[in-house]
Amino acid sequence: MTIFTNTRVVDVVEGVAKPLGAVRVGEDGKISEIAEATSFAKRGISDEVIDLDGRFLFPGLISCHTHLSVVFPFSLTDPHENPAVTAYRSAQRASDALLSGVTTIRSVHEQNQADLMLRKAFAAGWMKSPRIFGAGRAISTPDGHGRGSACSYAKDFEGFYQAALDELNAGADHIKIFITGGLAHAGESPDVPEMSDDEIRGVVKAATEHDTYVVAHAGESKAIQQALRLGVRSFEHGYVMDQETVDQMAAKDVFYSPTLCVTRSESWMRAKGFEEPSIQNALKASERHLASVKLAIKANIKMTNGTDYPPGDLVDGVPAALHELFLMHEAGLSTLKSLQSITSMAAKLIKQENFLGQIREGFAGDFIATKGNPLDDPQHLREIDLVVQSGEVIRNSL
Ligand SMILES: [Zn+2]
Repeated sequence: MTIFTNTRVVDVVEGVAKPLGAVRVGEDGKISEIAEATSFAKRGISDEVIDLDGRFLFPGLISCHTHLSVVFPFSLTDPHENPAVTAYRSAQRASDALLSGVTTIRSVHEQNQADLMLRKAFAAGWMKSPRIFGAGRAISTPDGHGRGSACSYAKDFEGFYQAALDELNAGADHIKIFITGGLAHAGESPDVPEMSDDEIRGVVKAATEHDTYVVAHAGESKAIQQALRLGVRSFEHGYVMDQETVDQMAAKDVFYSPTLCVTRSESWMRAKGFEEPSIQNALKASERHLASVKLAIKANIKMTNGTDYPPGDLVDGVPAALHELFLMHEAGLSTLKSLQSITSMAAKLIKQENFLGQIREGFAGDFIATKGNPLDDPQHLREIDLVVQSGEVIRNSL
């Protein structure tokens, strides 16, 4: 048991910081009590105490569009890579993410199902990692956006249905598809739809049978409208979206991760050795991407934080997950909604709203501490002094 005292809990749902108090986390890793700072001592409770000296306690970050196993530049991906090598690369990224304050991730394609493998190692206590909600491998048409990325490949209703069942049976929490092209490859465009109605129906059927949902890499309006009609619940990127499309997304109450990082991280792309066509694709899409995200914000779509990069990678000096948060905020998302996109709204997306994304009794003891109040300015998240997961101190720079 640990008591984190002299701290102000940030309620990301109500948008208020509570008065100074203390949070106690039990042996089960869940928050057992939130009380006045002196309350535990008065009752003679002598747990280990960590004094936060007035810092703000904020829920552990939840990053919703993660690739831990991705290789940069993409062309160096080896589809026949030994799974152990994939796992080592992914484990390092998982560790970086956790240390940066990301206590939960939703992965949306990992080579060799590295997310599902890491989760086993994490559950066994062999390694530290964010909690992982994983897709296993994304499912792509043979010539689609996933080509060369060690995805699962399928065609037709039956092929996609079976491929989705394979990932679900391996332990996937959701199904990832590509309904359009993207920006990764030379000559590729996010404006081109690449799945038939029947193919989308196949994955939606498999997901529904397993009480879960489909998340779509989605470049443009027409394919998004198609996928909305067919029951896809979670949309990523949205590089080119018109008013009609964002209105339909709002009406269907789906989730949207804009991944602004993808078109706004030139220096990072260059540092990672991205090839020039990928960089030019990203920069060329930058303006219309931002315009689309602004439409989505005005339409009041449920926004979640996703980076498309390993979320702990530093982009312009901050972890990618925070870089994305600041970009969403700059694009016009309110401070509270920006903070919710990486906490309570993200928890809803992964169907964990009763356990993750808030600091409440009965919830996971996942949180970070900052000197300044993120509700006043999200930039205060640049200085995270403490990372705690399931009540265990992961990093302490107090
Ligand atoms: Zn992605």
